[in-house]
Amino acid sequence: MTIEVNEDTRGSQRKILFDLGLRKELSSHPPAVERFLVESGWDLQVTKDIPEILKEGNLSPTDIEAVVFSHHHFDHVGDLSQFPSTTTVVVGPGFKNAHLPGWPVNPESSLIDDDWKRHNIREISFDVGPEELFIGGFPAVDYFGDGSFYLLNAPGHTIGHLAALAKISLASASSGEHPSQHPRDKFVFLGGDICHYPGVFRPTESSPLDTEAQAALYTCPASFFLDVHPEKSCEKPYYRMPAHCTVDEKAAGDSIRKLCAFDANEDVLVIIGHDASLIGKMDFFPKPINVWEKEAKDTLQWAFLKDLCQNTIHN
Ligand SMILES: [Zn+2]
Repeated sequence: MTIEVNEDTRGSQRKILFDLGLRKELSSHPPAVERFLVESGWDLQVTKDIPEILKEGNLSPTDIEAVVFSHHHFDHVGDLSQFPSTTTVVVGPGFKNAHLPGWPVNPESSLIDDDWKRHNIREISFDVGPEELFIGGFPAVDYFGDGSFYLLNAPGHTIGHLAALAKISLASASSGEHPSQHPRDKFVFLGGDICHYPGVFRPTESSPLDTEAQAALYTCPASFFLDVHPEKSCEKPYYRMPAHCTVDEKAAGDSIRKLCAFDANEDVLVIIGHDASLIGKMDFFPKPINVWEKEAKDTLQWAFLKDLCQNTIHN
């Protein structure tokens, strides 16, 4: 897969966020979410809210021109009341019709209507036309118009689910050497809930699992990684997206298939919303992500295998 971007990506200093995660005050959720949390028995703890995290990078919500929401679920929409009305809310196709108005107009909504009504809500259209753009098979919109951040239409988990592709700059790219010697452009694919676990899109034929290398890391036989695979394959994903996690199973499958091509591209690091294996293995805000290099991608890509080892040992 080839990703073509414009050359001029010096950056406009415009700032956007992709998803807000969970609200810090769990008791401030709409009733439907509160009920769900009680019934599920989940023990959720949020130590910092978004303004606190932004402050660590000397930013505040007033610096944020837009919040892009991958989708409407409560663990992604955070607390929109913490942002000024000047912050635009960006959502995917069909979002408004499917998910707004929020609570209390819709008693079952996970969105608080008053918070959403304060903002300009920009619903992205990926309509076919002369400006039609595809990135890796995903209908795309060039958000800044400079090739640095693409919104991608990735439905299936929910109506209007968005993913994004962010171009990250490399420190050495401005060091002055000849352009042909510059490192290649690197990207981060922000997957939201396109799926919920890395084993749903890893490994693949294009990005097979090197069982010998992983065996050396985990000091176990190479055969272990095939033994725990339902199809004994190092070229097929370990898991499938459960149907109950989708509103459109076929669309979800299509989105995940396209995601696999990005994951196989050595210049793209795929990060999905619920990949806990990345915690402690990569820098988080306010540190920049532009220190990512090929070696780090290998480490991050296969970090989820630790779960398989632990689960098997415990079982
Ligand atoms: Zn979700």
